[in-house]
Amino acid sequence: MTSNMSRVVIIGAGQAGVSAATFLRSGGFRGQILLFGDEQVLPYQRPPLSKAFLKGEIGLEDLWLKSATFYVEQNIDLRLGIRVEEIDRKKAAIRLANGTWQAYDNLIIATGSRPRALPDVQEEMEGLHQLRSYEDTRRLRKALSPDAHIVLVGGGYIGLEVAASARALGARATVIELEDRLLARVASRPVSNFLEGYHRARGVEIITCASVAALETDGGRLTNVRLADGRRFQCTAAVVAIGGVPNDQLGRMAGLSCDGGILVDHNGRTSDPAIFAIGDVSRRPLPFYGDRVHRLESVGNAVEQARLAVAAILGQERPEDEVHWFWSDQFDVKFKSAGVAFDADRQLLRGSSEGRFSVLHLKDDRLISIETINNAGDFVAGRKLIASRQVIDDTLAADADVPLKSLISLGNDRKLYV
Ligand code: FAD
Repeated sequence: MTSNMSRVVIIGAGQAGVSAATFLRSGGFRGQILLFGDEQVLPYQRPPLSKAFLKGEIGLEDLWLKSATFYVEQNIDLRLGIRVEEIDRKKAAIRLANGTWQAYDNLIIATGSRPRALPDVQEEMEGLHQLRSYEDTRRLRKALSPDAHIVLVGGGYIGLEVAASARALGARATVIELEDRLLARVASRPVSNFLEGYHRARGVEIITCASVAALETDGGRLTNVRLADGRRFQCTAAVVAIGGVPNDQLGRMAGLSCDGGILVDHNGRTSDPAIFAIGDVSRRPLPFYGDRVHRLESVGNAVEQARLAVAAILGQERPEDEVHWFWSDQFDVKFKSAGVAFDADRQLLRGSSEGRFSVLHLKDDRLISIETINNAGDFVAGRKLIASRQVIDDTLAADADVPLKSLISLGNDRKLYV
């Protein structure tokens, strides 16, 4: 257990890092908290970067996770614009870019992830974008005038959200996807089909089974995206949105166990008991899925892991496990999902796939994941059903006239955390 005189150092002032600092104080920790972030602006939330902020509907101050005064009032020593370059586990200290060292009693690595680069493509060219930071969005927004034609390389959530935002701003948008359908790695076919139809109906061009062979330039400026089959798409800008890679370099250099992210236990603890890793940078066991190890990129996961790590650092009771969740907004469609459909043995469709429906993924007669389109009620009830691990009846579950929440039986004394 950490004493109230000790010092917790957090690397990365994003969703996970700020949540950890906040939970430390709300959990009664009175020691020092040092929160280092390499970006210049106050810590902010990323989801609006491809949605409302990209469309110019909200400003930077609407993105802030906490106000500037919060950090002062909570005595959180927030150091912005400072990159951490090394962790020395023997010294129990970190080295900053300016060469100085800071000691820690507990260290939390919350360095997030970065966009995966397109292989064999020169990264520096005018008109080529990625989307992770507030600065990325500011640059991209300038490229989204009504006469622009933007190509989204990757039909995942970020690519589709940007396509929808681009259309809202009057620009042309083309999505290039390697797989035979959108969101192939992360969503079911009914959801992919629905979103594909929705985007097409709003003017988004969608090309599947297509891989990018080259980005062509004229005078250093992107002019065309060329596919492996020879097709060429003239464009004014392109965004590469083909997934993320964890920023786990500090952990790897320090000799922490890493494998596609920093490996952690149920509490976010790494192979070094004094060091935790939380949020996008970590790969964690998922308690509702036989502790299968997985890397999640979502706000819900970042906040949950921050809560777990802080409880472990403070020696407090471990919070109840949460069912992982995610959301995405595209045009006026509200997508929400809970759980992960690992090894599902069947899939049920609830409602019509026209505009409001849910896809239920079952394994051994239990709900393990739910995807909802414009159906917040099913999402909330589905999350509870997954947590309860109870057996459900297929016929009732697939009947949209039967409220999903009516299937929840709280007969046992299990506390549901949703
Ligand atoms: P981050 O929020 O990325 O924070 C990490 C911080 O650490 C960054 O500021 C980084 O610059 C800093 N850092 C890295 N290395 C160092 C270093 N060496 N020294 C100092 N600082 C360092 N999730 C959802 O659930 N729903 C959504 O709709 C959704 N939409 C998204 C849209 C976009 C465009 C993006 C980019 C993400 C979206 N996400 C969404 C994912 C969600 O934002 C992330 O899962 C979440 O931000 C992860 O939090 P984190 O703290 O792990 O990482």
